[in-house]
Amino acid sequence: MKFNYKYSGNSKVENTSSATGVNFAPDILREPTYFVGNLDKKIPFREAISALHNVVTADFNFQPKDNTEYLTWLKSQEDVWVAEATAEASTLKSEIARLQSKLNKVRSERGKITAPYYKAQRKYFNYLLKRDYAAWLVLDPVITVHPDQVFFECFSKDESVYGKLSCGYEVFNQVDEFKCGTTNIDYSKKLYNEFQKIRTYKNTEFKIDPKGFDVKTTGEETYREVKIDLPDSWVRGFLQVSTAMTSDKVSFDLNPIDIANFISVLKRNKEKTGPRAIKYILKPGNPIIAVFEPWNIEVECLQSIYQGNEAKEIRVWGRRRIALLERLLPITTKFTVHLLGSGMPSFYTAHLTNEMYFTLGLSGWTANDWAQSTQLDLLMPRTKVPANTMQTVYLELRKDWLNTTSKIASQLQLDEQVVKQSLVTFTQAGKVIYDLKNNVYRIRELKREGIDIEALRFSSETDKEAYQLMENGAVTRLKSNAFRDKVEVSAFVKNQYNSSVIINNDLIIVDGKCTCGDYYKNKMTKGPCAHILATRLAFDKK
Ligand SMILES: [Zn+2]
Repeated sequence: MKFNYKYSGNSKVENTSSATGVNFAPDILREPTYFVGNLDKKIPFREAISALHNVVTADFNFQPKDNTEYLTWLKSQEDVWVAEATAEASTLKSEIARLQSKLNKVRSERGKITAPYYKAQRKYFNYLLKRDYAAWLVLDPVITVHPDQVFFECFSKDESVYGKLSCGYEVFNQVDEFKCGTTNIDYSKKLYNEFQKIRTYKNTEFKIDPKGFDVKTTGEETYREVKIDLPDSWVRGFLQVSTAMTSDKVSFDLNPIDIANFISVLKRNKEKTGPRAIKYILKPGNPIIAVFEPWNIEVECLQSIYQGNEAKEIRVWGRRRIALLERLLPITTKFTVHLLGSGMPSFYTAHLTNEMYFTLGLSGWTANDWAQSTQLDLLMPRTKVPANTMQTVYLELRKDWLNTTSKIASQLQLDEQVVKQSLVTFTQAGKVIYDLKNNVYRIRELKREGIDIEALRFSSETDKEAYQLMENGAVTRLKSNAFRDKVEVSAFVKNQYNSSVIINNDLIIVDGKCTCGDYYKNKMTKGPCAHILATRLAFDKK
């Protein structure tokens, strides 16, 4: 999906001994959105914006090894080896000739044997090239100015982490001018380094620069156009995580010490096998317990009592990303955790000051994770609300930029459920977000030109077919067998095919079988067929 921005100049942070000027360059193709104020809570802001930076650049996918040290050593050895070789050259000549002819024979033999290997390797490198290229593309953070707060949002390039920093106006000791809306801001690593220089004793001006929107007759060259083509899966992931926030959830508070303990368990242990999950054990009136699998290390959160009235066990994935909160620990008063259910995204809100809070969302999946399907449901159509009613709901929210469903319902004399369904649909399309802390919906246009959710709903035709098969009840005779570290599920699909799927304890499809033509032709090389996927979806639904 193509994103085009036009920035007036670059974002910069100017530092002198007595003052810091934080100046964000907004996307001027968008409706004018700006903000000028003086920061009051400087250190929390510095720490929180730095944590957000770590989300933007987070990539928990495989990282290639850094070979630079080895190459330097190699270079220094070169002369030594050349000198050694020249010294013995004359005596070795005849020996070389003899070995050379032997070697040639061995080589041609080897060529025959290894040809298939190199072919496969070349394919793999081409795949890496494409993938690494995609890893360079990151959507600059989205910034939204509202009547009560300014918030930044970003989504990591590996599609596993969502970050949002909300700064209420109490974070500023003076707000000069602002205009509500959403814009992208020019962002760079350099900017991150400059943020580190924010100090309590320095007056810090914070500006989403209104000047960019001035009509300029000269100096067009100061504008910088940026065009990026982001993978659809990334945009889909962003929308899925946003939509997850609107779902029903189980919420509880944790102490910063609890999160510090989680991080310490993860630092001290490395998992070789799954499940790589945290199992939260929630019992009314009892301390919350987090069990780290597969080691079954229990962390009892002694000061954090579960206030809900129903006992629950919920397992969530993506736990190593919790380390992104480490920098916030010294300035966080408490964390609120929101869980949607096993295998679903989870959210951790760090309360920094009264009105400054940081939300970390863990999607529970990473890029190119075709074998995960728990998230598929998030972007499904929810509503049979007529288009004009939906439009009215949107315009009502737009009036104040933020609102609760009950207020909108009473103002429009609509059923609250209708209002909620409409707003969830707008969230799926990237036009609205749900604020977990304040329980309000907020206007936030992710993409200037809007997003075609229909085109984005499914990642492939196979996904779509599988989802429809499951929805239409074409999956029958569902049976499951649990083994120690996996579950085998079998079903009869479309009254025609015997399908089975093996899901490991990280909820990932590791194998499947089907009696259809697709499976016969491709086996699992192109991922599971629609029937295998539908079997899995039907099992998840149950
Ligand atoms: Zn099949």
